[in-house]
Amino acid sequence: MTYEELVEVIRKLGVERYRADQILDWLYKKHVFVFEEMTNISKQHRQLLKENFSVPLPQIITKRVSSLDSTTKYLYQLEDGNTIESVLLFHEGYATACISTQVGCPVKCAFCATGQSGFVRNLSAAEIVSQVLAIEADSKQTVRNIVYMGMGEPLLNYENVLKSIRILIHERTKNLGVRRITISTVGIPDKILQLAGEGLDLNLAISLHAASDEKRDKIIPMNKKYSIEEILHAARLYQEKSDRRVTIEYILIKEFNDFDEDARRLARLLSGMKVFVNLIPINPVVTGLEKPTQWKINRFKELLIDHGIEAEVRYEKGADIEAACGQLRIRNLH
Ligand code: SAH
Ligand code: SF4
Repeated sequence: MTYEELVEVIRKLGVERYRADQILDWLYKKHVFVFEEMTNISKQHRQLLKENFSVPLPQIITKRVSSLDSTTKYLYQLEDGNTIESVLLFHEGYATACISTQVGCPVKCAFCATGQSGFVRNLSAAEIVSQVLAIEADSKQTVRNIVYMGMGEPLLNYENVLKSIRILIHERTKNLGVRRITISTVGIPDKILQLAGEGLDLNLAISLHAASDEKRDKIIPMNKKYSIEEILHAARLYQEKSDRRVTIEYILIKEFNDFDEDARRLARLLSGMKVFVNLIPINPVVTGLEKPTQWKINRFKELLIDHGIEAEVRYEKGADIEAACGQLRIRNLH
């Protein structure tokens, strides 16, 4: 629930408005999710809350902590038995939550474990927000940045994703700065434009991964529907409206999209845009798709920089626990 929704529902139950602040304090600051334990609320009101509401906190099934960099991967079970994963990672020393937006993903990119495992359903706003709360409660870390880069395509679950963001940035809840939130999308032009109109200056990352439609068609089925040109046009408008530099994600796949010509084409496509390119050596979750050599990776980056495009190589976190982007998948618990 948003703050306003909570105020309204408790008002209908005859509970005073300021109780909403107390409840949110318990949930978001003290990580107490059981109404009985909210001791500054009268017994009678606690009972009323218990009878009318529940906190759908995902249940942690397994948790793996990387011995390399403390990245932690959580497997959660939702109330209906479906499972999702979230990751806690440390970026420049700050806790970052990488959260899921769908059970599986309908986009089915050829290189992605989530895409391979099929699509089940959208997550509710509560299920999205509660991943952050569950991570904080378990790890005792305060999450400072959130990336919508776990399982699923956020812009295909637009309403719930937006609601989760409005909840997380509210001053009475997590009070997160909107600039600490990044949405990563495969690139859905009309949704990017809708997002630009929300008045939220979120960071946007576009998963481009190829510099020609011919190549992108081969790895991202949705590219047949929305071309690179349409996606970048929307990204340009988003950039202008938000005045945020857009991130372009580019997975490097050996002898597929790692040629000098790809780097030059990419630089041409992005020229004049305020962008930053994140080069991601592929996590080989699908056979046949491999990482380029280190030499090739560095050369690709240098070529972009020579053509005036800012670029960096993003190395995976939690390599020993399969926690990096593209490695999250639906687990069968039975
Ligand atoms: N659906 C959204 C967000 C979730 S995927 C999107 O596609 O952007 C998060 C990121 O992981 C995306 O950039 C995606 O392309 C990347 N990814 C998927 N599979 C990967 C793999 N095998 N290796 C490296 N990155 C991968
Ligand atoms: Fe879905 Fe993103 Fe994976 Fe593509 S890369 S299948 S859009 S989660």
